[in-house]
Amino acid sequence: MKIGIFAGVHGDEPSGVKAAHMLHRWALTLPYELSGYEMHLFPSCNPSGLNDGTRRTGMGYDINREFWCGSDLPEVRYLESELRSERYDIIISLHEDDTSHGLYGFVSGSLLSEQVLKPALIAASRYLPLNLDERIDGFSASGGVITEGYPGVLSAPPEQRPRALEIVFETPGRASVKLQAVAAAVAVRTMLVEYRKFLAYAENL
Ligand SMILES: [Zn+2]
Repeated sequence: MKIGIFAGVHGDEPSGVKAAHMLHRWALTLPYELSGYEMHLFPSCNPSGLNDGTRRTGMGYDINREFWCGSDLPEVRYLESELRSERYDIIISLHEDDTSHGLYGFVSGSLLSEQVLKPALIAASRYLPLNLDERIDGFSASGGVITEGYPGVLSAPPEQRPRALEIVFETPGRASVKLQAVAAAVAVRTMLVEYRKFLAYAENL
């Protein structure tokens, strides 16, 4: 099972980058939770934005609206080629939302995405509160889960089948970077455990 973790898509959201580095250190201890997985970390998807501390790239683009629509941006072309050649089973994007008072996430792709996100939100809520509002970021939400999304976000290639599990995990951007990073890292670890449970269950059917 191949999993891709994408952080720093928006250059003013440092906690995902920190979470990716925490996951790297964790992976080096060869934890049981990672057995059977190949985890690829992309900690700095928008290097010029991260350098400047801006959401957009140095050329002024929000790369998270540019995927799979023929973009010429070098960041997007590089990430699209990785997504297409690696065919990830699970794609997790780490983001911050400075208008949210708590944790939430977007799901798409496989129907399992929501089942995997829910326990991850609960595990991460040991560190930061959940956003249980009925509307978040303009979308209707339930238990911190949004099933709609913006067009052009980082995702599996449109032709990929079976569809990947796609989760965008959002931490409240006004909380401390360290707490956001810990919450995101714990959420990713929980998603790996939950996905494995579903696969084992499916095999026994
Ligand atoms: Zn973001």
